[in-house]
Amino acid sequence: MTLRAALLVLTTLLAPAAHAQRTPQELAQALQTAARAGDAVAYRNLLAPGGTFTVEGANFAADLTRRVPADVTYTLGDIREQGTQADATLTLVWTRVPGQVSRVTLPVRLMRVGEVWRYAGEAFQPVRTETGTLLALNAPGLAERTAIIAPLLTRAAGEVRNVLGLPVPGDAVVKVYPDSSSLSASVYLSLPPVAGWNEPGEAIKLVLAGGTPAEVEGATLRVLTHEFTHLAVGLAAGAGRDKRIPWWLHEGLANFAARTFVSERGWQAWQSRVNGYARSGWVPLADLADFPAVPENRWDHAYRQGLGVVEFLAETRGREEPWLLAKTFAETGQGDAAAKAVGFASLGALETAARAWLAARGV
Ligand SMILES: [Zn+2]
Repeated sequence: MTLRAALLVLTTLLAPAAHAQRTPQELAQALQTAARAGDAVAYRNLLAPGGTFTVEGANFAADLTRRVPADVTYTLGDIREQGTQADATLTLVWTRVPGQVSRVTLPVRLMRVGEVWRYAGEAFQPVRTETGTLLALNAPGLAERTAIIAPLLTRAAGEVRNVLGLPVPGDAVVKVYPDSSSLSASVYLSLPPVAGWNEPGEAIKLVLAGGTPAEVEGATLRVLTHEFTHLAVGLAAGAGRDKRIPWWLHEGLANFAARTFVSERGWQAWQSRVNGYARSGWVPLADLADFPAVPENRWDHAYRQGLGVVEFLAETRGREEPWLLAKTFAETGQGDAAAKAVGFASLGALETAARAWLAARGV
């Protein structure tokens, strides 16, 4: 190694320390710079390791590259340092949809590793539960209000087992948010507001519903059962195989499993929407397979058509068939092989038959 090369190596090694974020404000600035540049690697280097946030933070960073939030601002307020950690509020302002400014404030935690501050995601309070881990975002009064959903985790997990025969792991982590804007901003900046969320390796996220205690219970069971299904299906599919299951089928299974907790009126509304799509405006299932590639204005098609195909299989071939279809997708990565496992010549043949059945269904 020449002296010049040695100096270069030395400079490279020292560079991170020289530019390190030595205060929470410098950390906010560094996060903003990485986000605006769509630099997922730089963003990940600013994250604190540990827990489900490690996976969530990496997925958040990956989205920065897919849909660069070129104008995002990161502002920390109310910073309370205590030893090697600090609590603060993080306000994010960005243009998710052209012409429309999004603004979300989240309670967050920062961690100091040596001299360097790192971002550890949202700050939570644990809520007592019989199974798994239930965490409420550290927002005023949310932990107290979340207590009423603690007993529902067991019921929702039991429903997934009843309907699909799949176990929900006892160590599931559920994070509760006060509204869908803050939930989605914690997942990634390009995500429109959603009521629930799950990705392999991440915590389940859900919005605490409003209304009477019965309404809160119903809405929570519906969303929890839906998200637990994603978790159970992903685990049963096997490591790395979850993404072989098309997105529409994932959503179809999740909505199907939550049937018990959907009102009769709500269920009929879902059915009549998919019947309508089957008659006119059906989007090819192949275009609904890869979630990040499906435009937002087609999401409803993925949810409704997915449920419609699952209903078709369950009612005409048997209750076990929807999961068998998904399982074979996971095992083979082949749509035609999956369709053959449930008695169709090809995925196209299955799609045609399902669509005809739905179009003819009078709901
Ligand atoms: Zn879903």
